[in-house]
Amino acid sequence: EVVVSIRNLTKRFGKTVVFEDVSLDVHRSEVVAIVGPSGAGKSTLIRCVNRLHPFDEGSLQVLNHQLNKGSQFPSKQVLNDIRTRVGMVFQTFNLFPHLSVLENVILAPIEVKKVPRKQAIQQAMELLDMVGLSEHANKYPKRMSGGQQQRVAIARALAMEPEIMLFDEPTSMLDPELVGEVLDAIQRLAKDGMTLMLVTHEMQFAKEVADTVVIMADHRIIEKGPSREVLENP
Ligand code: ADP
Ligand code: ADP
Repeated sequence: EVVVSIRNLTKRFGKTVVFEDVSLDVHRSEVVAIVGPSGAGKSTLIRCVNRLHPFDEGSLQVLNHQLNKGSQFPSKQVLNDIRTRVGMVFQTFNLFPHLSVLENVILAPIEVKKVPRKQAIQQAMELLDMVGLSEHANKYPKRMSGGQQQRVAIARALAMEPEIMLFDEPTSMLDPELVGEVLDAIQRLAKDGMTLMLVTHEMQFAKEVADTVVIMADHRIIEKGPSREVLENP
């Protein structure tokens, strides 16, 4: 089952072409790593998938929604549905600084999905346990390491029970010794069958965990295929 279908997608900012004629299918439970040099358009591509960016040419199917180019904006209802079902984790953790870890995780389920508070707390504690942070539920983000904050961000995204998770260089802002704990959390999601699209510079991780590796450069996809073939050592 194809859950994301990117067809001949082109994205420009003004006259600047970010990427051109990009096509990619992502199947349910597939793990796709997008790699390539800085400025290649990787981050903008995954942002198109949950419509943080509109696009200029081509078409995009996300779950049961068919999106067409910029002029036809999807309704607010469609946007909300996509953003609820497609979770995203950014380079910078983007936690709410004035909220505790637990409050960060329960906020969207309560506000957006109207989950009863007690149930949201119970679910949040399970997710925090999964990322190894149940002891830290009442802490504030600024008192935690970058690796811990990013794991909270993962738990927060998962609290919406997404069907697809997008990661935009989730470890690139972390001290090297904290990268592993975040990659472990992502690997666990992959093992649990979550559909993942991950922009990363962690080649060893991509090779081990991704089913498919996509290499972007010069504003297009220059190679894609099974990770062990694409990232084969010479
Ligand atoms: P990557 O993730 O591969 O590093 P990005 O998708 O972040 O690449 O960016 C690709 C190109 O698009 C860069 O040259 C960047 O400067 C440009 N770009 C990204 N966002 C914008 C924007 N909002 N306006 C204009 N140019 C942008
Ligand atoms: P990231 O790699 O986290 O996307 P960037 O530094 O590439 O961070 O971009 C930060 C923000 O600025 C993004 O929202 C992006 O869309 C925007 N941006 C990036 N490049 C440009 C640009 N050349 N002109 C205008 N906005 C840009």
